[in-house]
Amino acid sequence: MIAPRAHGGIVGIIGDPVAHSLSPRMHTAAFAALGMDWRFVAFHVPAEHLPDALRGIRALGLAGVNVTIPHKRAVTSLLDELEPSARAIGAVNTVRVEADRLVGYNTDAPGVLDALVRDGGRTLAGARCLVLGAGGAGRSAAFALASAGAASVVILNRTTSRAEEVAGRVADAHPACAVRAGPLDPATVVRAAEEADVIIQATSAMLAEISDGRGEAPAWLRALDPVLRPGMIVLDMVYTPRRTALLNAAARAGATIVDGLSMLVYQGARSFELWTGRPAPIAAMRHAVDGPPPP
Ligand code: NAP
Repeated sequence: MIAPRAHGGIVGIIGDPVAHSLSPRMHTAAFAALGMDWRFVAFHVPAEHLPDALRGIRALGLAGVNVTIPHKRAVTSLLDELEPSARAIGAVNTVRVEADRLVGYNTDAPGVLDALVRDGGRTLAGARCLVLGAGGAGRSAAFALASAGAASVVILNRTTSRAEEVAGRVADAHPACAVRAGPLDPATVVRAAEEADVIIQATSAMLAEISDGRGEAPAWLRALDPVLRPGMIVLDMVYTPRRTALLNAAARAGATIVDGLSMLVYQGARSFELWTGRPAPIAAMRHAVDGPPPP
């Protein structure tokens, strides 16, 4: 039985691809832990169907959705309202239905900080940070780090103009933080990593390799290995596999590692609280995603 509320009881995730997502398993466990009769559904939504999918959220009475690749940016122009930090970041990963209006939030940003601080044991004030990727997740991380008092944030992206656009926004919002942008090539990555205390891998470059089972990391990612060192903290947002090649290399080099599951749980906990109004059962959510992946 679904909770008999006009806008309660069903939430989900929209993305393309979405089959790799552990969010259904995590939120289903959270509902079970609290005895809530809610459902979480994964919806495969190609870009051309995004506007219809959003209309469907309202029409079908969902309480909200998570938004994942590649829609976090595009969705911002299709909602009724953006919470101020989501508007500043320019990316939404959580939609909540509020009095029939679709309101966009960004829980990736606080989720990155929770993961680095609570699981990485790291204070971010004064940190020198490198963010690889300027999509929805990369821009959320860059904003989060600057808002937490990072001394500098370097954003490198395959499409350099996108990194520059994000860097401009972050610099405007956080003038005390030194923000730079650049291309995602091996030489630039190495130079930036040599000066970084915190590295965040926020590209989806490995998703295709994971889904077709090849697993060969790109040259810019492999170039990082020799510059990883103790005292550095490395977060890879990708959580399939849980221990990515980057995290394995960082652990071998004596760096502190934070896996993508850590961020998944913290951003998910904040989304859960937005939808349900109840404190998220974080331990149950973590436990649900720590096990082997679903068949
Ligand atoms: P997105 O908005 O679609 O952005 C994708 C990013 O990856 C862009 O920076 C893109 O560069 C880059 N990219 C894609 N293919 C690439 C390639 N072959 N080589 C180099 N760069 C490439 O996706 P997103 O929402 O930011 O998500 C990015 C990754 O983070 C995904 O793997 C996602 O699953 C993961 N993530 C995890 C969590 C978590 O909780 N653990 C949360 C959010 C995201 P261009 O701009 O040049 O296209």
